[in-house]
Amino acid sequence: MGSLQVALGIDIGGTNTVFGLVDEKGKCYYKNQILTEAHLPAETLFSRLFKTFNSEFKLKKEIFELVGIGVGAPSANIYKGSIENPSNFNWGYVDAVKLIEEYYALPILVTNDANVAAVGEMMYGVAQNISNFILITLGTGLGSGIVINRKILYGKDGFAGELGHTTVEENGRYCNCGRRGCLETYASANGICRTAFEFLSLYNYDSMLREYSYNSLTSKHIQEAALSGDKIANLAFEYTGAKLGFALANSVSHLNPEAIIIFGGLALSGDLIIDPIKNNLEKNLLPIYKGSVKILPSDLMESENAAILGAAALIWKEINKNGTIIQVSKNIGIKN
Ligand SMILES: [Zn+2]
Repeated sequence: MGSLQVALGIDIGGTNTVFGLVDEKGKCYYKNQILTEAHLPAETLFSRLFKTFNSEFKLKKEIFELVGIGVGAPSANIYKGSIENPSNFNWGYVDAVKLIEEYYALPILVTNDANVAAVGEMMYGVAQNISNFILITLGTGLGSGIVINRKILYGKDGFAGELGHTTVEENGRYCNCGRRGCLETYASANGICRTAFEFLSLYNYDSMLREYSYNSLTSKHIQEAALSGDKIANLAFEYTGAKLGFALANSVSHLNPEAIIIFGGLALSGDLIIDPIKNNLEKNLLPIYKGSVKILPSDLMESENAAILGAAALIWKEINKNGTIIQVSKNIGIKN
């Protein structure tokens, strides 16, 4: 067995699953990716993943000692080590820790993508010196990870931090969760496309967005249009940031965070999205919080290894010197 300690970080996405070896300082030594093939059972994903990984890791065993496996996945529950009915996956309830233990009897932790991103920022990113923060991922939907005193807030059943499904509009837009007016129907890549189409019908301004059909329009098109001065696109960014800033003002009252970190595709739009969030957050804050909350873009999202770093960081954050997991009280299925 080698002497360089590494954790295996695995990020399961709707299309691709990426994985890699990361040391405690965040240096990535190996990475690879396979298609998730979410229409097939979870067992086949893990068997393909470990077949690929093992054949390559075998050659590196002289150098590396594997200390644990961290997994980011949609609808993952850290208490049960499970992945539960992720939307767009044909999986149902998956005991992920048990499936992985068939390959490695090591500490294994599984949690959702937003929590993984929050741990990644704490270990290697913009939150290395921030104890209390909220991380928002703006992807197809809106995910969130809440950190209190340097610990992820998991709640009673492991489902704390579903800010994407807080209601921001009574009888508002229909959401995939079956309810109406959820924040992610406004503040997400899908949400901003819905807003752009609403504004195209509401206003008469010339707009390059009129060239797109509903199914072909992406948030990237809206970003490009906004940067070239397109009025509808700029209004859509304003509106999206305003909804998010308004909702986050409530979160600040719940949690009194030092910062809110914005991660994911839409966050790459920079000031286009950050400025309206800031302005509308400040406008709606209780006076005692005014001027006290930083809105920060993620440090890691432009790293091509962000997902692997975050998943591996789960292990590095929670493992102690004896190689045992110290953090989650109900971590069923984790072997020391
Ligand atoms: Zn919802």
